[in-house]
Amino acid sequence: MADYCKLCERKLGFFASKYLVNNENICEDCYYAHKKVKDCILDLDIEAFERNLDEFKNKFSEKDNLEIFVVHLNRIRDSKLLEIEKQKEENLEREKKQKEDDEKTQQEINERIGPFYNQDLVYTIDGVRGRHIDVYKDKVVLTTKVTFGSLISHNATDGEKTIYYSDCIGIQFKQSKLAIGYLQLETASSSGNNKSDNFFNENSFTFDTSVVSNEKMVEVSDYIKSRIDAIKKGKDSSATVANNAVSNADELLKFKQLLDMGVITQEEFDAKKKQLLGL
Ligand SMILES: [Zn+2]
Repeated sequence: MADYCKLCERKLGFFASKYLVNNENICEDCYYAHKKVKDCILDLDIEAFERNLDEFKNKFSEKDNLEIFVVHLNRIRDSKLLEIEKQKEENLEREKKQKEDDEKTQQEINERIGPFYNQDLVYTIDGVRGRHIDVYKDKVVLTTKVTFGSLISHNATDGEKTIYYSDCIGIQFKQSKLAIGYLQLETASSSGNNKSDNFFNENSFTFDTSVVSNEKMVEVSDYIKSRIDAIKKGKDSSATVANNAVSNADELLKFKQLLDMGVITQEEFDAKKKQLLGL
């Protein structure tokens, strides 16, 4: 029994290519006519789909089985549109989730460092005796408010002191056990080794466990230490180079004066110059 193209009703010869569309055998021409419409959906071009579908309907308008294929094409379109809609919803859902996560992270940062959000501010902690410490990436700002505690500890200097890590030679840290703990930044100008001074020193942040945990202060202390080390390392290497350059230039200037005064010869000056400039 001979096969017929289900769409154009043409007889399909034994060697003719047959295509299965919607479980129906169709000829090559009909397959490509059908594919032209279907591919618009894969390209997500709905306008082109409608246009080509009209063309398709016109082309086979007098054929009995046209409707089967039109229904099939419309079903492909509908399922694709549904898929797109679902994808959109998933994207929206994902964006919403991402936004919520970002807000949560921001909120956690704000809770950790207080309302004065600043990218360089790493810790902000209230201590005792009116002390407050703001720890930045490059400095610490110690604030003292006059309180009853600061008055009786003769520490009633209302004010703010900024200490840059680049000026620090070390840090002293004592956890709060039975007594108050402290974190003190030693600078070249501060006399940091006088133990009795540690609690009242203007470079000290004093605390006890009623205001902040020892663990937290260990973390803060370690952070400051690491920043001082990092800045010192960076500074030392560049400072050495700069200092050498300056002292060599000074040296050379002295020899130039000696040359001008006739104390040394041109040859002696040139030799010295060569040596100092590392030529
Ligand atoms: Zn056909």
